[in-house]
Amino acid sequence: MISYEVQQFGTQLAKTERETPRPEGRQVLLRVLATGVCHTDIHIWQGGYDLGGGEQLSMAARGISPPLTLGHEIVGEVLATGPHAETVSLGRRYLIYPWIGCGTCKVCLRETEQVCTSPRYLGIMQPGGYSDHVLVPDSRYLIDIGDMPAEQAAPYACSGLTVYSALRKINPAVLAEEPVVIFGAGGLGLMAITLLDVLGGAGAVVVETDATRREAAVAAGAIAAIDPLVPDFADQVKNAAGGNVWAVLDCVGAAQTVQASLDLLVKGGQFIQVGLLGGRIQIPTPVMPLRSISYHGSFAGSLPELQDLMTLVGQRPPLAIPTCCRPLETASAALNDLEHGRVVGRLILQPHQHQSSLES
Ligand SMILES: [Zn+2]
Ligand SMILES: [Zn+2]
Repeated sequence: MISYEVQQFGTQLAKTERETPRPEGRQVLLRVLATGVCHTDIHIWQGGYDLGGGEQLSMAARGISPPLTLGHEIVGEVLATGPHAETVSLGRRYLIYPWIGCGTCKVCLRETEQVCTSPRYLGIMQPGGYSDHVLVPDSRYLIDIGDMPAEQAAPYACSGLTVYSALRKINPAVLAEEPVVIFGAGGLGLMAITLLDVLGGAGAVVVETDATRREAAVAAGAIAAIDPLVPDFADQVKNAAGGNVWAVLDCVGAAQTVQASLDLLVKGGQFIQVGLLGGRIQIPTPVMPLRSISYHGSFAGSLPELQDLMTLVGQRPPLAIPTCCRPLETASAALNDLEHGRVVGRLILQPHQHQSSLES
């Protein structure tokens, strides 16, 4: 099997060839059909998160060290199963749930394994989809995608699930009646706009510095897309949101976007952060109870949430966000393009030999 690995943080990915693993026990071996390129891949590739104030949260401190095969938004076709694997069919195409936990702790048993403190995430702790094959520890992590194109299904494993889980944390009455303010119109933000529509939300007001992305946000269905650098920014956002801002979803996670989000909220408002760009803010402590605002960090989502999401988008397909498919061997260039803001929508890597079967 051919993989593109991080062998040293911050350097070009290296092509490696290893023996294709044989599935044992409950494991399933899949041929990779499509893998989404996510911002998290850049953080891992670079070796850490910016905590602000000159501090870094290093991957090494989280127990993550090279060699690493990135890629956690994976669709594959089942090639072989271990003797104890259940309920999958050879040759069928599945979306893989990558946020795998230890399987035995309380949070795993409560089916919230994305927040397990001993994670085994695919594409982060275990080899992921920047490869032509991937080994999944258990068939329970596979979700049949029916006839959905692989490149369309793949991003639901991270960007789709992340914003779905975040939007579900908003008071349902607020979601139905009030536009949600979304910071950032990259892969996450665009996905949030389209999923808000599928969830019966009142709409999205997007905040984005880049003019091309603002256009993409409006094309994806946003009520308005506002440049945060205009002088009357807060007034423009509040007007577009109908007077008050009840809920903000931050898909950027920079100090400026978090601060701006908290400042925009009306009394009783909710702030949900999924972006991880980096920085730090100061919060005067009495403000939280006095304004009765909530600050909710949200990471990926649970396996039941991904199953719900795939059922939902199967029944009510959202507007497709722009997707660009590239051969797997261009993985390093893809990471560079995403890092430097040269991507609108979602980048998908596909192992070369399978392109023809996908087009048919
Ligand atoms: Zn666990
Ligand atoms: Zn991701």
